[in-house]
Amino acid sequence: MSIPSVRDADVEGKRVLVRVDFNVPLDKATGAITDDTRIEAAIPTIRLLLDRGAGVILISHLDRPKGKPVESLRMGAVASRLQELLGRPVEYVADVAGEEAHRAASALEPGEVILLENVRFEPGEERNDPDLAQRLASLADLFVNDAFGAAHRAHASTEAVARFLPSFAGLLMETEVTALTSLITEPKRPFVAVLGGAKVSDKLGVIESLIPIVNGLVLGGGMANTFLLAQGVDVGNSLAERELVDTAQGLLDRAEEMSVVVLLPIDVVVAENIDQDGVVVPAGEVPEGQAIFDIGPETVRQYGAYLANAQTIFWNGPMGVFEKPPFAAGTIGIAHAIAESSAFSVVGGGDSLAAIEAAGVAEQISHLSTGGGASLEFLEGKALPGIAALG
Ligand code: ADP
Ligand code: MG
Repeated sequence: MSIPSVRDADVEGKRVLVRVDFNVPLDKATGAITDDTRIEAAIPTIRLLLDRGAGVILISHLDRPKGKPVESLRMGAVASRLQELLGRPVEYVADVAGEEAHRAASALEPGEVILLENVRFEPGEERNDPDLAQRLASLADLFVNDAFGAAHRAHASTEAVARFLPSFAGLLMETEVTALTSLITEPKRPFVAVLGGAKVSDKLGVIESLIPIVNGLVLGGGMANTFLLAQGVDVGNSLAERELVDTAQGLLDRAEEMSVVVLLPIDVVVAENIDQDGVVVPAGEVPEGQAIFDIGPETVRQYGAYLANAQTIFWNGPMGVFEKPPFAAGTIGIAHAIAESSAFSVVGGGDSLAAIEAAGVAEQISHLSTGGGASLEFLEGKALPGIAALG
């Protein structure tokens, strides 16, 4: 698959509309930006365009305002943070694609940057409305999509807009596509996928798609409970999807047919609820009235030893309720095991990235994917609308 790259675009003296993913986490009480990784990730593309004499018009969504203005979700604070990180003025324009946006875009000189209002304030955004797309396109001469995290959505600013302008992938988009492509085409072996998170139903597609390409599947989190149930293990009050036990069994059978090693927890941390302290028990001995909230230390050791031999690792989904300190050790332990391995490692998913940060091992991971849902759909082999539309 060859995607037109911003590196090959003639941008000098042009106005370039850049779709970025500035959907940053905000503190609920103060509205402050709690993590600016996504803003930082877009900077290489912005710098490249500015260095080559383009005027840059940035646009992003922030959270879910559902098609109307929401004061707490305006982009002003994001513009200020970007200005700090970029070390250049960034003008915040409180309009998506109306008169004010057009005035600001027309006045834009080469080397200048503006950030438009939250694109999801427009009802046409999530409907992939061609009228909104056309109004956005009329702001610029070229379109660059650097929002990998939103590429699995066919929205006006990710898909329809690309029909109206010459369109290119940004540097972040390219980096993501390259890293994820290398997982599915000729990965160095053994290739081990570590999957966790709350539910099997969230990850069914990716488990199915990964079985034919991995050598090992390491399971944890709430999702592992459904697999334990399929193996006849009583998981007590644990989060599990009883209606998916047969599906889980089918996946285990398929893995066995394909000689894929599947590791399930051998010990677990249980409690009555997440506000209590945990107790370690063997996976088959969950006391009545208790639930599994993390993998146990023996499991961490076993998974760690297995990961030490891997040459390629993909991780998505925490091993337990790591937000709560009594149930964080499994996830942090796996983060360290992945960091210490010499494998080419890719980690995706909002909570998984937070766990990598909490473990302090971000530097030792080969690629941190900024797209949770997008990275999973990419690995499932689905065409992502925001990428397919480029050209
Ligand atoms: P990511 O954001 O990395 O894709 P998910 O959103 O799929 O990950 O899963 C993260 C969530 O799964 C966390 O909120 C975590 O508390 C929850 N979780 C993990 N293990 C369990 C468990 N044993 N029981 C209940 N919830 C769990
Ligand atoms: Mg999540």
